[in-house]
Amino acid sequence: MTRMQPARRWRENWLVSGEGKILKILMKAGFVYDPIYLKHDTGQHVENAGRLEAISSLLEETGLTQQLTPIKPRAASVDELSLVHDEQHISHVFDVAQRGGGWLDADTVMSVDSYEVALYAAGGVITATEAVMSGEVASAFALVRPPGHHATSRRAMGFCLFNNVAVATEYALAKCNLERIAIIDFDVHHGNGTQESFYDNPQVLYTSTHESPFYPGTGYVEETGSGVAKGTTVNIPLPAGCGDNEYLQVFEQIVSPAVRRFKPQLILVSAGYDPHWVDGLAMMQVTTTGFAQMVRVIKRLADEFCRGRIVICLEGGYHLQALAYSVKATFDVLLGNTSIEDPLGQSPRRFQTLGVDPLLNRIREIHALP
Ligand SMILES: [Zn+2]
Repeated sequence: MTRMQPARRWRENWLVSGEGKILKILMKAGFVYDPIYLKHDTGQHVENAGRLEAISSLLEETGLTQQLTPIKPRAASVDELSLVHDEQHISHVFDVAQRGGGWLDADTVMSVDSYEVALYAAGGVITATEAVMSGEVASAFALVRPPGHHATSRRAMGFCLFNNVAVATEYALAKCNLERIAIIDFDVHHGNGTQESFYDNPQVLYTSTHESPFYPGTGYVEETGSGVAKGTTVNIPLPAGCGDNEYLQVFEQIVSPAVRRFKPQLILVSAGYDPHWVDGLAMMQVTTTGFAQMVRVIKRLADEFCRGRIVICLEGGYHLQALAYSVKATFDVLLGNTSIEDPLGQSPRRFQTLGVDPLLNRIREIHALP
């Protein structure tokens, strides 16, 4: 009788068994969703419940939901929000909801239920983190709203009430015995709130690709963190018009080496799909296929350093079809499905390939990246 040979890894998602059989690794991916997220009523606002309805209908229609593990969100506690936000801000959002809602700034509106929904948005990312850290799933995507990455410790802004990804990151540091977490933010806007939350925290690496100059006006290459955390904020401000090639170049040449050097134990992603070429809020040229390529790079990094642990948190993305297909493509990558449906394809506008080499060289120099 021959001795059983151990399985060995062959390509990313496959194993070769001792007998030479090629086995697909079952990669359980979870999703957080709850109809409560539709109750944050913003009226005619571009950030509205239709976004999550479009995503959930497409996942349902295409049968993807059956391939995923549902995770039920809970509300974040005020103590958990306080890991990031000061009490005055939390009670202000509570008070505005009690009064029936209203505008918190020129862009950010809330309804009577929005405080509760926002607790569930932050809680949803915490629940996704718990599911990944307990090993129930390898990765999880929290399909939540309101989004979070602009919310600072003291104020709501840019459609965001509480900073979901920052709250979950602080939670994971405090409760899951983690020492190093990377946050990768590919929303087209700079996540000023997330940057601020961890600017002096050496346990968190924050990388952001965003259009610049653009809202909210932060995220310059010189913003690199402070004190002992110098170097753990990596900003990649890109000129309008960048597409899949430029983003992939950034992910290969800046994000990957920065993450490799940091060796995170968990990766959180602020996934905003507003760099899509059809999205009306910005001027980037990314396609659904391009988002899949970025998520593939992130997944490779997570496989390398974090036992595959990824928690993705929905941020922006305002063209319903582009958003839904790009979220689906993200799940396909998490599941190891190789074919990506991209019905919108490439932008019909022909942008010249932008040279981002001088910018990337400068960022590499500032951060002493290989
Ligand atoms: Zn955005």
